[in-house]
Amino acid sequence: MRAFEVFRAQNRSQALALLGEHAPHAAVLAGGTDLLVEVKHGMRAPRVLVDITPVGELGVIELTAQGLSIGALATHSAIMRSALVREHCPALVEAAHTIGAVQTRNLGTLGGNLVTAVPSLDSGPAPLALDAFASIAAPDGMREVAIADFFLAPRRTVLRTGELLCALVIPSASLGKPTAFLKFGLRKGQALALVNVAASLRIAHGVMCEARIGLGAVAPTLIRALDAERILDAQPPSEALFAEAGRIAADEARPITDFRASAAYRRELIRVLTQRALALALARAGGKR
Ligand SMILES: Cc1cc2nc3c(=O)[nH]c(=O)nc-3n(C[C@H](O)[C@H](O)[C@H](O)COP(=O)(O)OP(=O)(O)OC[C@H]3O[C@@H](n4cnc5c(N)ncnc54)[C@H](O)[C@@H]3O)c2cc1C
Repeated sequence: MRAFEVFRAQNRSQALALLGEHAPHAAVLAGGTDLLVEVKHGMRAPRVLVDITPVGELGVIELTAQGLSIGALATHSAIMRSALVREHCPALVEAAHTIGAVQTRNLGTLGGNLVTAVPSLDSGPAPLALDAFASIAAPDGMREVAIADFFLAPRRTVLRTGELLCALVIPSASLGKPTAFLKFGLRKGQALALVNVAASLRIAHGVMCEARIGLGAVAPTLIRALDAERILDAQPPSEALFAEAGRIAADEARPITDFRASAAYRRELIRVLTQRALALALARAGGKR
């Protein structure tokens, strides 16, 4: 492991200044549950780590004029404990609950999870299903990026050198939207997802609208199953339609075969989990499951 220096940023501007000063050799350090493993195994060799954990404002979970803002430094445990997240976006709590074990959830942050951009990350599908966006601090000001556009490739996001993910925002229009998150791993705990799915929908005048299906571990980046979403629009909910949406979602995905599972098995999981997540979202919308 190559030696590195650690600078502790006391506020956001100091973090940006340190990242700028040491670019392109600096990396942001949050919980370190992913970054330090990579450094230890020589997959990355930053010369400088900018520790942002002292920057309290980055851990705040609050309702704002835009919606529910969850600071990038909010840990998975903090999300599970947050009354605001539980009330407005319970699917995020369900997702946080499936991440690693207690120790990982106590240290690992939402921001760190999203920035890893691994296809299986568990914090991604629910924000996709809720039209969330990322609030990003750049040296020349703030910018916002829809979470659907945030992931570019495995381990690559839209973040540019020197930028900081500040918060994930669930827009006001999505707060309280019936949503369900399901994950399938090889064990119940401490397992990466073979497939994870979040589905959300609303019922108005007996038909479905605003259906969203976010999928993880099924393609090089997290994706929305747009064709599957479309067939639900303006239709009365039914098991047959959810089964069809599951089949379409499985067709839209591009799962791989690896040592954990074959692509065929993953496709079957996508089909079943999508169908179940839609049924669960419907039940939460007050419809029949
Ligand atoms: C034993 C174990 C089990 C795990 N299980 C799961 C699991 O079940 N599901 C899952 O999804 N993940 C899992 N992980 C992965 C990891 O714990 C999570 O991704 C975690 O949320 C990462 O957050 P962190 O704060 O530790 O990030 P760090 O390791 O500190 O950082 C990760 C990456 O994000 C960058 N970064 C962090 N914060 C910011 C920011 N605010 N702005 C810009 N860049 C930033 C870092 O530079 C680095 O590139 C597991 C890890 C371990 C070690």
